[in-house]
Amino acid sequence: ANAPSSNFLKGLIEADLASGKYTNRTDHLGHPLPPVVTRFPPEPNGYLHIGHAKAICVDFGLARDFGGRCHMRFDDTNPTKEEQEYVDTILDSVKWLGFGWTHDGREHLYYASNYFDKFYEIAEYLISAGHAYVDSQSAEDMAKNRGNFGEPGKNSPFRDRPTAESLDLFRRMKAGEFKDGEHILRAKIDMASPNMNMRDPAIYRIRHAHHHNTGDKWCIYPMYDYAHPLEDAIEYVSHSLCTLEFQDHRPFYDWVLERAAEGGFFKHPLPQQIEFARLNLTYAVTSKRKLLQMVEEKIVDGWDDPRMPTIVGLRRRGFTPESIQLFCERIGVSKADSWIDMGVLEGALRDDLDEKAPRGVAVLRPLKLIIDNFPDELSVECTAPVHPHFPERGHRTFPITKELWIEEEDFMEVPSKGYFRLFPGNKVRLRYGYVVECTGCDKDENGKVIAVHCNYFPDSKSGTEGSANYKVKGNIHWVSSTHALEAEVRLYDRLFADPNPDAGGKDFKQALNPNAKEVITAYLEQGMKAALPDEKFQFERHGYFVADRVDSTPGKPVFNRVVTLKDSWGS
Ligand code: ATP
Ligand code: MG
Ligand code: MG
Repeated sequence: ANAPSSNFLKGLIEADLASGKYTNRTDHLGHPLPPVVTRFPPEPNGYLHIGHAKAICVDFGLARDFGGRCHMRFDDTNPTKEEQEYVDTILDSVKWLGFGWTHDGREHLYYASNYFDKFYEIAEYLISAGHAYVDSQSAEDMAKNRGNFGEPGKNSPFRDRPTAESLDLFRRMKAGEFKDGEHILRAKIDMASPNMNMRDPAIYRIRHAHHHNTGDKWCIYPMYDYAHPLEDAIEYVSHSLCTLEFQDHRPFYDWVLERAAEGGFFKHPLPQQIEFARLNLTYAVTSKRKLLQMVEEKIVDGWDDPRMPTIVGLRRRGFTPESIQLFCERIGVSKADSWIDMGVLEGALRDDLDEKAPRGVAVLRPLKLIIDNFPDELSVECTAPVHPHFPERGHRTFPITKELWIEEEDFMEVPSKGYFRLFPGNKVRLRYGYVVECTGCDKDENGKVIAVHCNYFPDSKSGTEGSANYKVKGNIHWVSSTHALEAEVRLYDRLFADPNPDAGGKDFKQALNPNAKEVITAYLEQGMKAALPDEKFQFERHGYFVADRVDSTPGKPVFNRVVTLKDSWGS
């Protein structure tokens, strides 16, 4: 999972740059074209997820690295209802990840449905040139005659119908004279091809459906495999990067473009499709259908639930764009499918946040600590660095008082072996404060410890000369119970208990981790009151936390645990 970063696509592009394959091109308006033009072509039918982030980093990242441009293109050739919500969130996610579609002062945001006329024109050309025909077989016959792997298919009885007849039928298909499925336009290639995708693939099908952009203008719609190469060529794409499952579709991609070029619709050099391995991430599902199901069945609290592998979910969880870019950089781009450990994604985040995140103190599982010899009304200011490695970022201060909150786990009435924190008779340092010696504890009627008692050494304060005289092994964090900020904290954990919740035939819902979200009330260093939505901190000894960008209000932040300090995915 930790293979050194590599990207074979760079080598391919460099070779094209060296040979000048795509240099000195101009578009139909005479604008010069950069030698690298890529595109990111989502279908606006769902929210983007971490797998898309990889594609975005590849498509936009390569264009950026080679001074080219990447088109933001909505592949909206399927008639669907208007989903402006999806269009908006996709654009937003791409921008948030740090990419844009403006190049040389021009915007490159496109909708494939704007090319319907061109697709149609080219289809008519293909029929006229004898490269396509209207097939009128039933769906069953068509499937049967397609044959199987290792056995050739059978030609349709309509395959050799006169060109004029196909053209007439196609025009009538467009005019709405037929019902869905009555006829279909197919490419005339080779029913015996070992590649099933070359056995006269469908080009246009009848669908009496409303399209969000073109309305009711069309009742025939192009197939993805036909439309995609044309979209690329219309936009002068040089390198059309896609995931491996399209490898077997590449011969048809090339076929469509070569035929269209023969018809004078495009000039060489034509776009080339290059496949790379998709991202498979452990402990996550990245199928749009399943993500939608989790939202609709309220298994999660919406698309941006911090447990979701969606970009909006990762963002709300506290991931930074830089950490996701770093992750994509680290996993590299290869030709072979593999699984990436969730720990790699979180590792990139830790590495990004370690330097950036200011430190803070939070007590998540509070237990009262009473310093019996501390004067009742006394409050002594303690100082801690904002970041231990960057003194120039300054200091934070908070008071120590007689009553504090400490973590439950920092006290044991009967210490286990190797336990150096609070237990009767032991001394620890209260970080940035004093050394205290534990004297005992109070319990409720059930024997549960409800308060711990100690005495402090007034000359032991951190940063003073006397502190050097105290050598203790334990060093625990705390907040003053009279000054602490009480805040809601959400402890998120993996959404799935199974590393491959999506694997063959499994019901991913069986793999859900029921404890993936815990909401607690925690006590925080008082300065956290000023935390701004989306601001990230390292809570000392706990991990990284972010002020939730939705639920935080001024003076009342709500925190999400982004990630713990150590990788916990390994075992
Ligand atoms: P669907 O879930 O409907 O099959 P999709 O996952 O292919 O859709 P698109 O909106 O078509 O989603 O994806 C846009 C681009 O993102 C495509 O080029 C696709 O190859 C790429 N992509 C999608 N999932 C991944 C993934 N897991 N890893 C890398 N790239 C991906
Ligand atoms: Mg797709
Ligand atoms: Mg998918």
